[in-house]
Amino acid sequence: MIAHVIVDVIHSNVAKPFSYLIPKSMQVEMGLRVNVPLAHRYVDGIVADITEDCDVPADKLKPIRKVLDPYPAVLPHMMALARELAEEDHCPLAETLRLMLPAAMRTGRARSKEVSYFHIAVTPDIERAVEAQGRSQKRKMLLRALQDGEPKTTAELSQWVNAPLEALNKLVREGFIQKTSQQQMRRPYQDMELTPNEAPVLTEEQNQALAVMLPDLRKGKGAYLLHGVTGSGKTEVYLAMVETVLTMGKNAVILVPEIALTPQMVQWFRNRFGPRTAVLHSRLSDGERVDEWQRIRLGDASVVIGARSAIFAPVENLGLIVIDEEHEQSYLSDRHPRYDARKVARSRARRESATLILSSATPSILSFSQAQNGEYTLVEMMNRVHNRPMPEVTLVDMRKELAAGNRSMISALLRQKLNECFAKEQQAMLFINRRGYHTFVSCRNCGYVMRCDQCDVSLTLHQPKDGSRGLLRCHFCGKTEKPPDVCPSCGSKYIRYFGCGTQKVEEEIRRLFPNVKTIRMDNDTTQKKDAHYHILNAFREGKAQVLIGTQMIAKGLDYPRVTIVGIIAADLSLFIQDYRAQERTFQLITQMAGRAGRAADNGEVIVQTYKPEHPCIVAASAQDYRAFFTEEYDRRRTGLYPPFTLFARLLIESASAETAKRTCETLFEEANLFLETHPAQKKRVLSIRADEAPIKMIRGKYRYHVLLKLFEHADSKPVLDTLSDLALRSDEQCQVYYELNPSTLL
Ligand code: ADP
Ligand code: ZN
Ligand code: ZN
Repeated sequence: MIAHVIVDVIHSNVAKPFSYLIPKSMQVEMGLRVNVPLAHRYVDGIVADITEDCDVPADKLKPIRKVLDPYPAVLPHMMALARELAEEDHCPLAETLRLMLPAAMRTGRARSKEVSYFHIAVTPDIERAVEAQGRSQKRKMLLRALQDGEPKTTAELSQWVNAPLEALNKLVREGFIQKTSQQQMRRPYQDMELTPNEAPVLTEEQNQALAVMLPDLRKGKGAYLLHGVTGSGKTEVYLAMVETVLTMGKNAVILVPEIALTPQMVQWFRNRFGPRTAVLHSRLSDGERVDEWQRIRLGDASVVIGARSAIFAPVENLGLIVIDEEHEQSYLSDRHPRYDARKVARSRARRESATLILSSATPSILSFSQAQNGEYTLVEMMNRVHNRPMPEVTLVDMRKELAAGNRSMISALLRQKLNECFAKEQQAMLFINRRGYHTFVSCRNCGYVMRCDQCDVSLTLHQPKDGSRGLLRCHFCGKTEKPPDVCPSCGSKYIRYFGCGTQKVEEEIRRLFPNVKTIRMDNDTTQKKDAHYHILNAFREGKAQVLIGTQMIAKGLDYPRVTIVGIIAADLSLFIQDYRAQERTFQLITQMAGRAGRAADNGEVIVQTYKPEHPCIVAASAQDYRAFFTEEYDRRRTGLYPPFTLFARLLIESASAETAKRTCETLFEEANLFLETHPAQKKRVLSIRADEAPIKMIRGKYRYHVLLKLFEHADSKPVLDTLSDLALRSDEQCQVYYELNPSTLL
């Protein structure tokens, strides 16, 4: 028999499978990881196919050297998925297969953690064994410790005697005791407190939603968009669906935007389903990830909660996929191989006969329009659990605030509301979409703005806690530098600091409310492993009255004591140069507002803005998704934006501005040449242009792009294929990336 192996080497020369003989003594299945000879070395690979013969004469074939795992790492349906993704993204199968395994497993970085156990081998005659130890007290003690027949670890035995290892080994050598090893599974969130609980009595809306979806779940079909307002109790709906799927003997995958931000979700599932819940996300250690992956693969876990890449979890017998907060950008992977977890989920659900639920209080324009076209069945929950009122939203016009002489970034109204909130010992959350202290630093005399010399962005001032002088930091590459004493351009001493970020808001709150404890959550405070978890826990336990943060705090958090939510500068995200700016702003405000008043006390939201009349701010403050959708969908249609059109671009990056520019021009010409010679394709292209990318440089690389806008149409594939082929021109000097509807066009 012959195995066709996709070797784990990403290079266009080796994109095709190589054939190897399967030695007689070897059991080989599709999806198995193997080690094979390639040219003058050995490489790992995955068996993609097995046949009885092939074109290459058998005496030319080399045999597989060894099998790497006791079971196929890639299940047949995952192999099919990898093929489909490779085709869609025009990348080698070896690359999409990498998605199916934890990186550490491939590179062998994470070894399994083995624990040794010792147990007695001489039960009937322990006294004789003890006697035989002569003068060694240590060995005698160890035998006594093991006398009860229970296996014990070295750590346990060192409670009887100091440094037992040498003595233990001698006892093993002489046959008095035996040593066995067992793989110890490293489990994330071990220290999480569990309080097993049962489902509450469901609300009428929850029951109605389930009545629609459960029949499909039982039949292994259906794709739903669950639109439920913040606090409508969507999680209980997922839990009920999972419970049913488990009784059917099937498994479930639950995706959350970023698991570090939603330890609560993990806790809910753990409380309900216990250790059958596995967790997969990027902040796990290599060992933890490999172990969780194996638990899933071997069927020891039946519920998987994870971030984007958990959509590739090696689940067999899949019955349900839930994508929580489906509107989140984090479901799009911008790195090769590029994929949209929602699309992958759709494909998996179809192939494996599972039910799919996309869920959000603020569905993406794309998904909601697909629901309107019947691609998803829309299920709505328009009320909060137990008819708790939606929070009351008040807009504050910051222009008037300034006119009234208030130069603080906290409006008079927000200040008053915070005062009342603190007096009642309730909690508040303040949201600002920028971290750092001052968002840019410029010269008052000549207007020069301090920029990163590696990236085309302005630098942000970060203030150390100890009050010493701050540092300017680049949010793209992380480089820091001292703020200048004089303007580097004109030498003037008048340097000004503009804008504000989370640090400045925190300082302002401390100034206004000296007795109130604050806690800040942004990229700066969450670098350490589990930092999110600790910050959120501290806030939950009431160690601070205010949580100040970036969009990190807008995600699905459920804190009963939060009654005030302040949005410091609601329109910040409106200014980004992106057709999705409105959608993002609406989502952020609505989600943030949704954090208020989730328990008995009513919530209030203060939205500070310089554009109170902007339709998306108005709709967000009314928490009226439909109004927003109608308006935005219309704008997309008339402005020819997605989902009516597609953006495709070639992003070109090079350390040499000249090379980047030249490559961009060449690619532009070639793309145009294709269009000129394919009029049917050209017809669907609305625009094509080549220029500098909006951010001209990142990490010292100059950026150019060729940007196409075309009608969304199945027959547009040839243009897209051409573009993605052009991206294969990458080389050391100049990288070219093909992006289809990228999550940002920066
Ligand atoms: P959403 O994700 O829709 O914003 P959650 O799932 O976080 O809402 O639920 C909001 C709150 O309501 C949570 O504290 C949850 O425990 C509670 N809850 C949900 N369903 C019920 C129910 N049927 N009875 C009582 N409390 C519920
Ligand atoms: Zn100057
Ligand atoms: Zn930089």
